[in-house]
Amino acid sequence: MKYDSQSDTYTCHNGKRLKVSKIKKEKTKTGYERETTIYSCEDCSGCPYKKECIKGNHSKVPFEDRTKNLYVSRKFNQYREEDLERITSEKGIVLRVNRSIQSEGSFGDLKEDTGFRRFRYRGKANVEAQSILLAIAHNVRKLHQKIQNGKTGTHLFALKKSA
Ligand code: SF4
Repeated sequence: MKYDSQSDTYTCHNGKRLKVSKIKKEKTKTGYERETTIYSCEDCSGCPYKKECIKGNHSKVPFEDRTKNLYVSRKFNQYREEDLERITSEKGIVLRVNRSIQSEGSFGDLKEDTGFRRFRYRGKANVEAQSILLAIAHNVRKLHQKIQNGKTGTHLFALKKSA
């Protein structure tokens, strides 16, 4: 549905406006405080999209009398917008590209180049210890390659410019 921030309303497929009807505050089991804004349509009668729009069969209200309620977490939407802005910025694109090169590349190096397939020890502490040793070995090898190639001091691969 299309959102209008000026009037804080949504407009549905049938051209009806959904206004704020309630703000629900709750605390999850982990103590997180969640705020949900409920937008409601005043009249959904005779709408040709009603079956697709209103879901859930547990309501005591007959389907003909039901109206659409839209549950929105403003905080979640705000975080999502901020995230999208960050990951589509130039810095965000460089970090995403490097994430796929550097972290996925490390798994590939470990598994294929060094032939690491399974942990040799059992128990959380032992597996953690072996993981740390593997990470140290990987980093030393990476540093050695950087020194050999004269690339120390650079951490991120630059984006390739397309022609
Ligand atoms: S059911 Fe209500 S909210 Fe949904 S499209 Fe129809 S009029 Fe709009």
